[in-house]
Amino acid sequence: MGMGVAGSYLMARLKNSEHEVVGYERNTEDRHDSICAWGTIKPVLTNFCKKVGRDFDDFLIHDGKTMHVKMNDNTKFDIGLHGLCTYDKLALIKDFIKDCKVVYGESPKLEYLEKEYDMIVDCTGFHRVYLPKLEKDFFLPTYEYKVEYENKLPYDDFYIEPFPGMSGYFWYFPLGKKWAHIGAGDYMKNHIKATDEFLKKHGGKVIATKGRPIRLATPGNCKPFYKGKVVGVGESIGTVYALLGEGIIPSMQCVEIFLDNMNDLAAYEKAVMEHYKVYDKVFKFVRKKIHKEFNIIKSISDVISIYRYMKKNEDRFGMEIKMADLMKVAKA
Ligand SMILES: Cc1cc2nc3c(=O)[nH]c(=O)nc-3n(C[C@H](O)[C@H](O)[C@H](O)COP(=O)(O)OP(=O)(O)OC[C@H]3O[C@@H](n4cnc5c(N)ncnc54)[C@H](O)[C@@H]3O)c2cc1C
Repeated sequence: MGMGVAGSYLMARLKNSEHEVVGYERNTEDRHDSICAWGTIKPVLTNFCKKVGRDFDDFLIHDGKTMHVKMNDNTKFDIGLHGLCTYDKLALIKDFIKDCKVVYGESPKLEYLEKEYDMIVDCTGFHRVYLPKLEKDFFLPTYEYKVEYENKLPYDDFYIEPFPGMSGYFWYFPLGKKWAHIGAGDYMKNHIKATDEFLKKHGGKVIATKGRPIRLATPGNCKPFYKGKVVGVGESIGTVYALLGEGIIPSMQCVEIFLDNMNDLAAYEKAVMEHYKVYDKVFKFVRKKIHKEFNIIKSISDVISIYRYMKKNEDRFGMEIKMADLMKVAKA
C-alpha cells in the first residue's frame, strides 16, 4: 500500500520472487508524485539500484561538492560533500514499478484487503493508513516549491539555513541547469514564510508547490509495527533520520530488513529496533532542542555518540562530519 520510495522498491525486490504482489497507490497515475527535496547519497542508492538491475546514474541530477550553511546569527560555513546528490526520485519510483501490477487511484478498505491478501504492507509513509494511530507522534510541517530560474541560479550547490533552536531548516537543493527545490520544515511554523522570502529575494518561476508533514518520531516511538495482516515499512514506522529530515535511505534499508524477516514479524520488529536504535537517540536530541529542554552538559554523551556514529558512517551520510559543525548546530 503506497508507491513511494519504500513501496516501489519493495515491489521491485519482490518482482521475481515466489510471491504474487499487487501495489496500490492512492493517487492516479498522472498525479503520482513524490513530495520530497530529492536529496540522497549516491553510492548508497547505487547499491540499492544494483539489487534490482537499475543504474542509479540514469536518475542522477546533481552531484554535490559543497553544502553552504548559513546560521541564524549570519555566520556561514561550508561542508565538504562526498556523495550527497539530487536525483529524479519520481522517475526511479516509476521505473521500480513499471513491470509490476499496480492499481492507481485507489485506497481500498482494510476489510477488503484482509479478505483478498495474505499480507498487507503499509508503505503509506506519514499517513500510516492501515496501522493504529500513534499515541505520541512527532512531525514537522513542510512546504516546498520546484523553481525554474531563467538566468543565474541563486547557488551553485546545496544550501541550507537551520532555524533558531533547531526547529527545522530551509533548503535549496539544486536540480540541474535551471531548476531547484526550495523549501523548509519548521516546528515553529515559519516554513512558508522562509520559503517565500527566499523566493522573493532570488526570484524564479514556481512550477510546483508541495508539502506534507514529515514524521520525526523514530521506530522506537512508532509501535505497533504490525497488527493482524498489516505490517509497516518505511516512514509509516518512523524511518527518518531526525537531524537531517532524511528518509529515503532509511526507508529503503527498512525494506531490506523486512525482506530478511517477512516470515517472522516479531523478528522484523526486533531487527528494526536494533537498526534504528541510534535514530531514537538522535530524535531525543532534536526533540529536546525543539522543546528548549536541551542542556549541553547533561546531553554531552548523547552528542558525542551521535557524532561518533555519523563520523564512522561518513560515506553513508555523503558529507564530511566534524564535531565543530555538530556543536554549532547543538548551540544554535
Ligand atoms: C518536503 C519534504 C522533503 C524531503 N526531502 C528529503 C530529502 O531530500 N532526502 C531524504 O532522504 N528524505 C527527504 N524527505 C523524507 C522522505 O521523503 C520520506 O521519509 C520518504 O519518502 C518516506 O518513504 P515512504 O515510501 O515510507 O513514504 P512516502 O515516500 O511518503 O510514500 C507514501 C506513498 O503512499 C501513498 N499513499 C498515502 N496514503 C495512501 C493510501 N491510503 N493508499 C494508497 N497509497 C497511499 C502516497 O501517495 C505515497 O505515494 C523529505 C520529506 C518531505 C516531506
